[in-house]
Amino acid sequence: MKPFKLLSLSVVVVIVTLALSYEKIISSILLPQYVSWAYDVDAKGLEVGVPLKEREILLATEIGIQNPEKVRIIYVDEVPFPYENYALKILGEALGFVGEGIVNDAQVFGYSIYVRSGYKLDKPRLAHELVHVLQIERSDLGTIITQHFSDLAQYGYQNAPLEVEAFKANQKYSGEY
Ligand SMILES: [Zn+2]
Repeated sequence: MKPFKLLSLSVVVVIVTLALSYEKIISSILLPQYVSWAYDVDAKGLEVGVPLKEREILLATEIGIQNPEKVRIIYVDEVPFPYENYALKILGEALGFVGEGIVNDAQVFGYSIYVRSGYKLDKPRLAHELVHVLQIERSDLGTIITQHFSDLAQYGYQNAPLEVEAFKANQKYSGEY
């Protein structure tokens, strides 16, 4: 085989191999990094966050949370994301999770709910986030993150099953307390 053809063939083989292992790279290397970071964020949030008020505890209980007293709300200028990890930043942008023009109003990392200051966490909005707390409580953070990232890639944010379940709570608890 001529050297040029051999080179072209090698390039094709490398590209195909990369494409096939793309998902594997994400699931085996990138996701565990994000999950480990998220556990840290949750732990820090539980230290500094504020507990739910009585009426909010009632709401959490109604939604089905087993340990509503463990929930903490943390108000921040920006909901955390591991921007310092370049590969995760690229992944986050690819999934529409972060990036220009994308504002993350709130995110649940376990019993910690990080909320962007200025985002009014009224009853329907809190109910939505509490459903995410419930999803993690009945499973675990790593499993839910893995599912959510895979869902985002497959369905997009609005139609991701975990979001669909949470958006139902916005409707159900749409009124005041
Ligand atoms: Zn949500």
